[in-house]
Amino acid sequence: MTRVRIKDILKTTPTNQTITVKGWVRTFRNNSFIALNDGSTNNNLQIVVDFTNTPEEILKRITTGAAISATGTLIASQGKGQTVEVKATSVEIIGDSDAEKYPLQPKKHSLEFLREIAHLRFRTNTFGAVFRVRNSLAFAVHKFFNEKGFLYIHTPIISASDAEGAGETFHVTNFDLSNIPKDEAGAVDHKQDFFGKSVNLTVSGQLEGELAAMAFSDIYTFGPTFRAENSNTTRHLAEFWMIEPEMAFYELKDNMDLAEEMLQYIIKHALENNLEDIEFLSQRLEEEEKQKPQNERSELSLLDKLKFCIDNKFERVTYTQAIEILRESNHNKKKKFTYLVDKWGVDLQSEHERYLVEKHFKKPVILTDYPKEIKSFYMRQNDDGKTVAAMDILFPGIGEIVGGSQREERLDKLETRMSEMGIPVEELSWYLDTRRFGTCPHAGFGLGFERLVLFITGMTNIRDVIPFPRTPKNCEF
Ligand code: ATP
Ligand code: MN
Repeated sequence: MTRVRIKDILKTTPTNQTITVKGWVRTFRNNSFIALNDGSTNNNLQIVVDFTNTPEEILKRITTGAAISATGTLIASQGKGQTVEVKATSVEIIGDSDAEKYPLQPKKHSLEFLREIAHLRFRTNTFGAVFRVRNSLAFAVHKFFNEKGFLYIHTPIISASDAEGAGETFHVTNFDLSNIPKDEAGAVDHKQDFFGKSVNLTVSGQLEGELAAMAFSDIYTFGPTFRAENSNTTRHLAEFWMIEPEMAFYELKDNMDLAEEMLQYIIKHALENNLEDIEFLSQRLEEEEKQKPQNERSELSLLDKLKFCIDNKFERVTYTQAIEILRESNHNKKKKFTYLVDKWGVDLQSEHERYLVEKHFKKPVILTDYPKEIKSFYMRQNDDGKTVAAMDILFPGIGEIVGGSQREERLDKLETRMSEMGIPVEELSWYLDTRRFGTCPHAGFGLGFERLVLFITGMTNIRDVIPFPRTPKNCEF
């Protein structure tokens, strides 16, 4: 008999039909009631076992964590909390689980503990919900761009360029590390290495994305990105997924409009397709927040926060205006920032970003036109000679979720800026070719997928929204 998913069974009208379900036991009460879960939904299916007709040998093996198959009739449930249940005619143990040794007990475990057993945490309510939502968000990203006629491009994971020039890359080599070939000067001889030169894991697919946009007009990438930055924060991973659209004939405003439309589309998709899981996560967050003092609790529930984001336009302000707001804020005057905002030109810290979003505007904010000194070489220079056409989108509880810009399409300006910033012009000759042959205004941005999942699930640590997080000194599973 074919297996039916629990999600579908729970929506079926019971007519005493015979069905077979397979899944993992969450709990087994009174030698009669199995709560079975197969990951298709957070809700368990109740299987009622007739213990007088079931061999003792089988009953003993229905333990938390065991994989079982149950066949029986689907009936309306007498009990509270479910509309249907299965009256089992037979239960088969597929895989035993020693209840004494199984790390997931039917009780609340801390997220920190579950991180240590990430190979099993998929089987909990919280992580079941998080990863079903994550799946749905990935699908929504593709759906959005596909509907808009964007081409999905696969940019390389092994790359010879460090897009930001920040040097926070992981090297890729097949050298025997205990015997690295050296040249005459005693430096590592990459000529003998696999690729004949020094290469690294990509930190961004943007530069390659730009090449494709110069042919297909509208493209996006969605792939893994690697940064060897030693940031032990709740918002940084060494391996994360990034969505990077790049559009020819777009200026900064078009770029902002697209990013805003995309974020609202994805949030809406989640509310329409994952409401059950989001409601569960919203409630989870509310419980969690009860531990906090009143003034640190969120004003809106997760659900209301998401609705708020799709119903309201994002606030758009320039860096210069933001500096003014921050400098004049009571927070700054009372020296409540770790980094006080005193002059134009300073980079914004996450405490400043969060102040703007959470305290001042109380909604998502798009900050534009940053000083050129704190942004990348490829951003388009504004006429004031001081700022570039950059845009960062800041979200409540997250800070920066999107970083983007209009790109410098003028060859002379780009080359000058590269020299000023010490970016090797010859090595990026292929990139500059797009400016030599048929250059045009274009723009794009990068959305950190995990930061988006954090926002939509209401989780607070980025390690809890990617199945197997990679962070400094941590690469398990
Ligand atoms: P931050 O200042 O938060 O480190 P960034 O300025 O380094 O971000 P970008 O280089 O603009 O970020 O990358 C684009 C997007 O990728 C960011 O807006 C963010 O959503 C995401 N992102 C950047 N670094 C990480 C990371 N280490 N882990 C997870 N997401 C990241
Ligand atoms: Mn960074």
